[in-house]
Amino acid sequence: MCAEGLGGGLPLRGESALHEAHMALIVQKFGGTSVGSIERIQSVAARVARWQAQGHQLVVVVSAMAGETNRLIGLAEALGSHPDRRELDVVMATGEQVTIGLVAIALQTQGLKARSYMGGQVAIRTDARHGKARIDQIDAEGLLADLEQGIIPVVAGFQGVSPSGDITTLGRGGSDTTAVALAAALKADECQIYTDVDGVYTTDPRIVPEARRLDRISFEEMLELASVGAKVLQTRSVEFAGKYNVPLRVLSSFDDGPGTLITYEDAVMEAPKVSGIAYNRDEAKLTVLRIPDRPGVGAEILAPLGNAGIEVDMIVQNASRDGYTDFTFTVHRNDFPAAKTLVEPIAAKLGAEGVLCDNKVVKVSIVGVGMRSHAGVASKMFQILGAEGINMQAISTSEIKVSVLLEEKYLELAVRALHAAFGLEQAAD
Ligand code: ASP
Ligand code: MG
Repeated sequence: MCAEGLGGGLPLRGESALHEAHMALIVQKFGGTSVGSIERIQSVAARVARWQAQGHQLVVVVSAMAGETNRLIGLAEALGSHPDRRELDVVMATGEQVTIGLVAIALQTQGLKARSYMGGQVAIRTDARHGKARIDQIDAEGLLADLEQGIIPVVAGFQGVSPSGDITTLGRGGSDTTAVALAAALKADECQIYTDVDGVYTTDPRIVPEARRLDRISFEEMLELASVGAKVLQTRSVEFAGKYNVPLRVLSSFDDGPGTLITYEDAVMEAPKVSGIAYNRDEAKLTVLRIPDRPGVGAEILAPLGNAGIEVDMIVQNASRDGYTDFTFTVHRNDFPAAKTLVEPIAAKLGAEGVLCDNKVVKVSIVGVGMRSHAGVASKMFQILGAEGINMQAISTSEIKVSVLLEEKYLELAVRALHAAFGLEQAAD
């Protein structure tokens, strides 16, 4: 059930039944800051108790206390810069072992029945890729039996067990994926991710104070927003939730707001043309100047990057005029020096005029499922940027996204102008 790597998925199910349901099954995941101290663990327990008092069945998933996973990695690396991955997983998994025990004790102190589980005890079965294991199967029967008896299972996020019985971890931020996978396996009504923000916003509120919390957003939009910089949830967990159609809610562990429900597209009632604006400061641009425009040059330029594991993001090639063309692409800023070193000799070999490099660029993207049925969204975006005197250096599009590459100094101006012009501000009340 619910393998990450396989196609298909559970049959479609209705919208979250939480509102009507007398009793819902909810998986609640609490991140590192939410369990960062004894006081916070007590307030997690109090919150879980309130949900149970309303008649719901709860499964709790927790991360390690804030900073703990980094501390554990630091200990292992103090012994050598590349610790054995099997042993590193043994060390890292202890962070969550502490919090499941503490949260279970805190729940018991509130008079509730609770029981902690390591990933292997559940069992959350994964492949053997230490440090980046993928979930193959979850045995949910034991947890369902607990729920029948009114026991709240408290499950360690981020970890599982390999076919040979070794402890594995799922990659940084992996507790989100544990929670979604458990929700899929248990056919939960909702998976709630409690974190230090109160939902998903139309854009970064640090740039646009008028940014608005979204009530709902589709899995697809959330993936686009996440991959272009709005890092609220581990991307993998959103893919997983979309595949198994698990209604996912992001909400604050410090207040009582409704958060943002991430769900399938039809349930996102009003589909505005643009739902959100994301940005990415990590781009660097390389332009190979005046290469002969003949079949195969694109591959010749990019193949060595692929071989070196360097991901290319945007690619632009102009129509050639006199048999020559410019070829522009972007990479992550961390990969910029390596990319430059690889491309310069190829450019020389191809007879290009040279390579122009610029690592002071940013990508700004507008995202919205409503774009599918509305023409003119891209041209409106270009008009808005033009009116601000902002030059676009590259453009890429998908069905639900338009991204442009800009000079770094225009980031804030561009995001603010687009946010206002697409009407994403908070409704005045
Ligand atoms: N504790 C792990 C980490 O810091 C997993 C998680 O928090 O989701 O990456
Ligand atoms: Mg996290």
